[in-house]
Amino acid sequence: MRSVRVFRRLLGVERTVIESVELTVEDDEEVVLARVRPDRHARSRCSRCGRRCPRHGSGTEQRRWRTLDLGTVRTFLICDTHRVECVEHGVVVAAVPWARPAAKHTYAFEDTCAWLAAHTPFSVVSRLLRVSWRTVNGIVTRVVADLAGKTDQLDGLRRIGIDEIAHRKGHRYLLVVVDHDTGRLVWAAPGRDSATLERFFDDLGTKRARQLRHVTADGAEWIHTVVAARAKKAKLSLDPFHAVAWATKALDEVRRGLWNELRGKGKAEQAATLKGTRWALVKNPEDLNPDQRGALAQIARTNNGLYRAYLLKEQMRMIFQARGARAVQLLDGWLTWARRSRLPAFVKLAKTIEKYRPLILNTLRSRLSNAKSEATNTHLRVLTRRAYGYHSPEALIAMAMLTRGGLCPDLPDRTAA
Ligand SMILES: [Zn+2]
Repeated sequence: MRSVRVFRRLLGVERTVIESVELTVEDDEEVVLARVRPDRHARSRCSRCGRRCPRHGSGTEQRRWRTLDLGTVRTFLICDTHRVECVEHGVVVAAVPWARPAAKHTYAFEDTCAWLAAHTPFSVVSRLLRVSWRTVNGIVTRVVADLAGKTDQLDGLRRIGIDEIAHRKGHRYLLVVVDHDTGRLVWAAPGRDSATLERFFDDLGTKRARQLRHVTADGAEWIHTVVAARAKKAKLSLDPFHAVAWATKALDEVRRGLWNELRGKGKAEQAATLKGTRWALVKNPEDLNPDQRGALAQIARTNNGLYRAYLLKEQMRMIFQARGARAVQLLDGWLTWARRSRLPAFVKLAKTIEKYRPLILNTLRSRLSNAKSEATNTHLRVLTRRAYGYHSPEALIAMAMLTRGGLCPDLPDRTAA
């Protein structure tokens, strides 16, 4: 029976009896079918809690699971399953040692798929494993739920960022919580309201909420209100990411206003030139290519208002790079300048910044580096723009937790390297 041991290894199953393995043809394709059953330790267990339970009824159902290919041949496990009656969970399908409950793929297959989904484009995963995107999404959701149930994501939080992320072309929102110290995404849920945020604090619990020292957020009042009530010892500050984004938006408004004005005056050529300058204006100066530098120099010469708007946006960035007393000076200088800028978008922004000044001061005094959480936020925004989209916010959250929440499984059978 040496071949049984070989097949058990090849099929990646444990606590399993292999009854037969055959090569057969299904729909013009050769496949390997392995008939298996849980061994005597693994059989008749609840698929929810693993408890040994009496069998329920005499009926059986033949189920099959796809596992990793043997060589290049698609391979399936087949087993006659029955139901059990658990004292806690009632009548449920019996657990199988090779797959998660309700899964149609084995642990080995699902873990491989999830790992690949975290590390390579979906198109590669789909082609390599011969599965649809929908299947990949389903697998990722199940794997992440399984791993999340085994660890506590919310332990040891001291400094967090709370953010809203738009998806579905901006019609839906996720509320996400990121750990500033590790950059890990620790919590996410569909929604953008105080009830959703209350749920995060419910999950966190009073004791751990008291350990929060610092919370960053965008300008949403409802976030501030909930944080003030639920994390009394935490200093609330404005995430620099948002202040800079507001300034960039104001700059865009100035540029668009000017473009419309030029077109209105019949200066189509000048308007067209201006249209090509967006990247020169919004990119960080150190990232500009020579053409963009040229465009910027041109704006400085010919368009005072727009160049002023550009400098205001840049100074907003500098404020958060400076930190400390110098940063506070820059902030107040910025406010004076913006108020007098004669640029309505920046006059308006000055009012907003004035309102959030105390929160910005908290940011500047905290010496908190947002680099890690910002990388996570950027990654999440990229995820939401993936062309094929997600069928549900849950699938998007699962993907985010897989790639940024530390909930990615190892590839099967690898010893930690
Ligand atoms: Zn049970």
